[in-house]
Formats: sequence, C-alpha cells, structure tokens
Amino acid sequence: MREHQIRSCAVCRKREPQDVLFRISFSERGLVLNEERGHGGRGVYVHRTISCTAKPMEIGRISRALRLSSGVLQKQMIDAIWNQMHQEVLTTVTSV
Ligand SMILES: [Zn+2]
Repeated sequence: MREHQIRSCAVCRKREPQDVLFRISFSERGLVLNEERGHGGRGVYVHRTISCTAKPMEIGRISRALRLSSGVLQKQMIDAIWNQMHQEVLTTVTSV
C-alpha cells in the first residue's frame, strides 16, 4: 500500500496528499523530478497544476528547501525543471 503523506506545495503552500504533487530533489545529475532518493532524502513538492508550474521558484527559496549551499543551484536548472513540470501538466490536463 502506498502512503498518502500530506505535503505542502512549495509555490502556494497549500497542503495536499503527496500523489497530487511533483517531487523535486537534488542528485549528482542536478535537479531531478519524481525520484525517490535525492540529496539527504529531501524534496520540494509542487502542485501538478498550470498555476503552480507557471513561474519558477526563486533560487534562494528552493536552495533553502533542499538544504543546498548557495552556488550549487543555477537558475537554468530551476527553469528547466519548471518547464518540464509545466509541459507535463499541459499534456495531462484535459480541461482548465
Ligand atoms: Zn501549489
């Protein structure tokens, strides 16, 4: 059985079951989406919605959430992962 853990969306702060959220974590390859294991098991959660994936989070906020030192993340890594989430939402959403 899968656990239905409640997590906060990092963008809008609303609390939701984990399975309606994307999980972003940090690995040797940079930011990765929906992988179980990441940097210290830490993850940032974001709604699978157009509004929460529309605008990338600020680099400082996401670094703090993942407990990364400044300089580890680059803006284009965040832009890329947000773009990936946004495209995925756009292809799965049937009505707005
Ligand atoms: Zn949200």
